[in-house]
Amino acid sequence: MTQPKIGVLALQGAFREHKQTLERLNIEVTEVRLPRDLAGLSGLIIPGGESTTMGKLMVDYDLLEPIREFSSSGGAIWGTCAGAILLAKQIEGVPPQFGTQPSLELMDMRVRRNAFGRQVDSFEAPLEVKGLETPFNAVFIRAPIIEWVGEDVDVLSKAEGEIVLARAGRLLTSSFHPELTGDSRLHELFLSMI
Ligand code: GLN
Repeated sequence: MTQPKIGVLALQGAFREHKQTLERLNIEVTEVRLPRDLAGLSGLIIPGGESTTMGKLMVDYDLLEPIREFSSSGGAIWGTCAGAILLAKQIEGVPPQFGTQPSLELMDMRVRRNAFGRQVDSFEAPLEVKGLETPFNAVFIRAPIIEWVGEDVDVLSKAEGEIVLARAGRLLTSSFHPELTGDSRLHELFLSMI
């Protein structure tokens, strides 16, 4: 089998860390900035960062429709933190001055931005994850929570009672930053979805 090639959306945010994690796993990685960069990819990671900025740049670079087509033609997509927000069909917690936040609207879930922010802005937590034998140490940075998921979405982990990791077919979503800890098990999970 030929090695899969994975893209990391590189408009803004923590894309370098995802790239480094994949490269440690000997995966060929492409930085995606334009629709043509999606050619030949089996998977795409949308990193954490600032979802309003990233969404705006995705509109400016005409990326929304090509990424939707990538997904409908079988490409796997993983959204982490801001990336999770950009995958969601419904987004809550967008300040009125931002108007409607652009999103890929691919995953049947409702996310709430900055939802752990009331307690603390950033924290680490060991998560029990379905399918992993030992906890995954997750880093949350002004993280969203997944408030609701459709019936085809499999919840893989919760933190403080809230959904923080879920999968629907070839879509994966995490409200934390798995690329910051040196633990590549969730990247391996994503690769297994290809
Ligand atoms: N709070 C950011 C947003 O709403 C997400 C934070 C992150 O990606 N670490 O876009």
